[in-house]
Amino acid sequence: MVSSSFRAMLLKLGVPEDRLAVLEGKGGVVEGEFEGIRYVRFRDSAKGFRRGTVVFENGDVVLGFPHIKRVVQLERGIKRVFKNKPFYVEEKVDGYNVRVVKVRDRVLALTRGGFVCPFTTERILDFVNEEFFRDYPNLVLAGEMAGPESPYIVEGPPYVKEDIEFFLFDIQEKGTGRSLPVEERLKLAEEYGIRHVETFGLYDRSKIEELHELIERFSRERREGIVMKTPDMKRIAKYVTPYANINDIRIGSHIFFDLPHGYFMGRIKRLAFYLAEKHVKGEEFDEYAKALGKAILRPFVESIHEVANGGEVEEVFTVRVKNISTAHRMVTHFERLGVKIHIEDIEDLRNGYWRITFKRVYPDATREMRELWNGLAF
Ligand code: ATP
Repeated sequence: MVSSSFRAMLLKLGVPEDRLAVLEGKGGVVEGEFEGIRYVRFRDSAKGFRRGTVVFENGDVVLGFPHIKRVVQLERGIKRVFKNKPFYVEEKVDGYNVRVVKVRDRVLALTRGGFVCPFTTERILDFVNEEFFRDYPNLVLAGEMAGPESPYIVEGPPYVKEDIEFFLFDIQEKGTGRSLPVEERLKLAEEYGIRHVETFGLYDRSKIEELHELIERFSRERREGIVMKTPDMKRIAKYVTPYANINDIRIGSHIFFDLPHGYFMGRIKRLAFYLAEKHVKGEEFDEYAKALGKAILRPFVESIHEVANGGEVEEVFTVRVKNISTAHRMVTHFERLGVKIHIEDIEDLRNGYWRITFKRVYPDATREMRELWNGLAF
């Protein structure tokens, strides 16, 4: 249910009345609040309002970040998505998606699902120059928060050695969600000193060899992949390195029972297409096969041992905050996501930051493993 004032606002913004009633009925629109700022987030889409859309009480609308098409056969995928059109190639940075927006006098960081993230919001002005929003209050910065000290993902890119950083990859208009052309985005990033994902200039399908080489290099450098975008941002596609596919499997198999089978299948499929497209054979093929097998099995077997010895399937992560209260808010935020975490340790870094260590326990995965280990037959 949303309050009557939000209801009226959503209708005025063009959400059809019958769709709104359906969404309300199944919890597809949910009201939230962050430090006195009220908002509604869309858990499902509704006529032009993508999933993850946030509507604030002052009428500001931040559309959900759109899905990016994936290609798994690079050469043919490019031909199909871009035809003969040129496209920019950017690094796909491995982190979590945030949309940064100024609402009234606050700069807020929104998660993909449309929550105001207490941690990212507290830290965002460490990375983004507030001047930008003074000059362009109507624009939204979309980027990846990435690094080893992240609340949502286990690993960061290899070049972020500590803490976390923001990498810009899109600038969109409030209300319409329309992206600025690539060149304008790059210019603004430069002008305001906002770190941007690495860009590799314009390519087209005739440069497939160079792209294959870039993917090989990224894979060796333990980077996640690339995103290709026409200069007008109308056509966008992503491609992930074999390294990232195997590494995600390695990270996931630690919590094997907590992930849908599709998580593993999708990555195995992409790896198979890479090996087929590149005609990988012989020793190199054997190396991939071994790496995949180890990635699936080793962390899985380690988790079984952990549980067999009376432990639990768990993950530990750290973040840096300016106020300890932000850490407590993250615990509540995770609770809303249906995830139980607790604070394990608080360390004063003596530079205005606290390093907080959290532990996330996976009760369902632990229970399932324990039962199987104890001989459950089915
Ligand atoms: P989907 O695109 O279907 O929503 P997903 O949520 O599973 O996919 P990924 O497959 O990881 O996400 O890829 C899309 C995400 O990649 C984007 O939402 C964004 O957060 C991230 N990303 C990292 N670098 C870039 C970049 N240069 N351009 C666009 N997105 C990027």
